Amino acid sequence: MKREIIVAREAGFCAGVRRAVQLANDSLEKESGKKLFSLGPLIHNPSVIEELEAKGMSVLGPAAEEKELSGLPSNARLLIRAHGVTREQYDLLQKNGIDILDGTCPHVIAIRKIIERAASEGEPVVILGDKGHAEVTGLLSFAKDGTVVSSVEEAAALKFEKPFTVVCQSTLDSATFEAVKNEILKRFPFAKIRNTRCQATEKRQTEALALCGVCDAMIVIGGLGSANSNRLAEICKSSGKETFFVTDPKNWEPDDLRPYSKIGVTAGASTPQSDIDLILGKLRALV
Ligand code: SF4
Repeated sequence: MKREIIVAREAGFCAGVRRAVQLANDSLEKESGKKLFSLGPLIHNPSVIEELEAKGMSVLGPAAEEKELSGLPSNARLLIRAHGVTREQYDLLQKNGIDILDGTCPHVIAIRKIIERAASEGEPVVILGDKGHAEVTGLLSFAKDGTVVSSVEEAAALKFEKPFTVVCQSTLDSATFEAVKNEILKRFPFAKIRNTRCQATEKRQTEALALCGVCDAMIVIGGLGSANSNRLAEICKSSGKETFFVTDPKNWEPDDLRPYSKIGVTAGASTPQSDIDLILGKLRALV
């Protein structure tokens, strides 16, 4: 069967992830006197982490505590991943005099600034996103009075009598954002709602949906722990298109794609080009 494969233009590493990986590589390759640690897995991709570990980076738990941090060697340098960290973690790192390499994505920093401004004005903050996700946990720590909501149902249970600020996780999908925004505005016309989805997310999700409209099946490549990859897969599935979420490109076999003649391929923001190429090679070899 003649098979057409369409790859999304916006697939794979976003600017924030690229920057964090570049910071790691620069430190590992150019600063031999330093021992690099990342606070949590730098990105949600095992093969990239393995490569960085082979060059000398060590990965600490995302919630490394004082005991662990104060036990780091004197030449330690600690890389903060694109999700950022909590205010308490920043304070702890500074208190322990740790050399920090801050890979927090500039977009996450911009959301944090909105929250800090609201906090300084005594306003509560609602963060729309996944409870427990590192970006959300980090952002929440900068609010004085913060709440996380993940759904319209949770938004319907909010209680406010004065203005409050609403932001969202950078990787949220637009349908959830709009639905929760409408629910909040219906009950609280005084809410100050900021759409803080990042452009990388916006472009990947919009393009994935467009591909769903013209393809017979979709492949989404990304790590299991990657929020934005999971959302891409959910968006494709909810369009009704047969969707294959590939989390382990090396061991993935394309046999189930055999019946499809037009296949769309996209990838989350933490998926390296090498994983995309691997999948494309397997698809093209499919007879
Ligand atoms: S997905 Fe957006 S916010 Fe997250 S690292 Fe990439 S550019 Fe930054």
